[in-house]
Amino acid sequence: MEENFNQLIREAKNVYNANFDNTAWFGRCIFLSWYCDLGTCKFCFRSTIKHKIRHAKSAKRSISSLLTDALIGRNLGWRIEFLTGGYRIFTFDEMLDIIRKVSHVFGEKIWINLGTLDKEQLELIKPYVEGVCASIETVEPELHDSICPDKPIQPYSDMLKLAGEMGFKKSMTVVIGLGEKKEDIDYLFDFIEKHKLERITFYALKPVKGTPYTKSPEPEYYAWWIAKTRIRFPKLEIIAGLTPKQPDYTRLILEAGANAITKFPVLKKFNSPETQLIEKMVNDSGRKFISVLNHLPDIDWNQKIDELEFDDGLKEEIRQKLEMYLRKMK
Ligand code: SF4
Repeated sequence: MEENFNQLIREAKNVYNANFDNTAWFGRCIFLSWYCDLGTCKFCFRSTIKHKIRHAKSAKRSISSLLTDALIGRNLGWRIEFLTGGYRIFTFDEMLDIIRKVSHVFGEKIWINLGTLDKEQLELIKPYVEGVCASIETVEPELHDSICPDKPIQPYSDMLKLAGEMGFKKSMTVVIGLGEKKEDIDYLFDFIEKHKLERITFYALKPVKGTPYTKSPEPEYYAWWIAKTRIRFPKLEIIAGLTPKQPDYTRLILEAGANAITKFPVLKKFNSPETQLIEKMVNDSGRKFISVLNHLPDIDWNQKIDELEFDDGLKEEIRQKLEMYLRKMK
């Protein structure tokens, strides 16, 4: 068994090396808000009573905070994984404005994961968005419907089809550890193939108090899903989440063929023993890390803010937020 696993990882690593360069990066999710109006997916921290009490529906994250997050990410070589969160919290017009502004800060089109969008909405976001992501979570149909009772797969499938026809790139998210079995990987492969996805994001379940889950998947089991997917889809971009307590996954998931890592509270833990470990493990895996998670480089932040095409009021708010974030990061 051990021998087979090592062989699988070796094979996945070879497939990766034959198709990609020798780099890895950190993918940053930018959250619009901490509240989810759906809030019924059984594994999710947003479904817990505690979370709902702590984060009122009206508690939207400020635009300046989102944009500061984006500005830091852009200048530290983080790539935006996607803009996400706040299911049914913002109006579409508000979301459109945020998408446009975040894309401006990044200086490029971004990815979004904002629920299902219709044709007219997709047309409006097109100038600022490279790809859309569907939060599928788990693909075995019965398991999916029991875990995410109010988030059916079909509307996401319809959106991905439409998005593909309109020239967007497409992606999905999958959480490993929800009760799926290894044989369910065929459902995953079918979904990737059917929707001609360019990217997938894997997460290892982080058990949250107040949900039925108590355990994260074993690193080998998590890596198994990544390695199998890498071998089956050599050119697919694979992003893999870490769990804050176990950044020591990093080497294994990169060797299993992930292009990048994500889901780590990097603003809180910048330049910490954990981020130092992540960087070391990226190096140990033989990749060159193109994102900065330790040691702030010398950057003229005022100039970066001045270059933005926002009104003076918003720039001032970003300046204040940035000062606060940088103080914490130092
Ligand atoms: S839709 Fe997303 S944020 Fe909302 S409960 Fe489900 S998994 Fe959590």
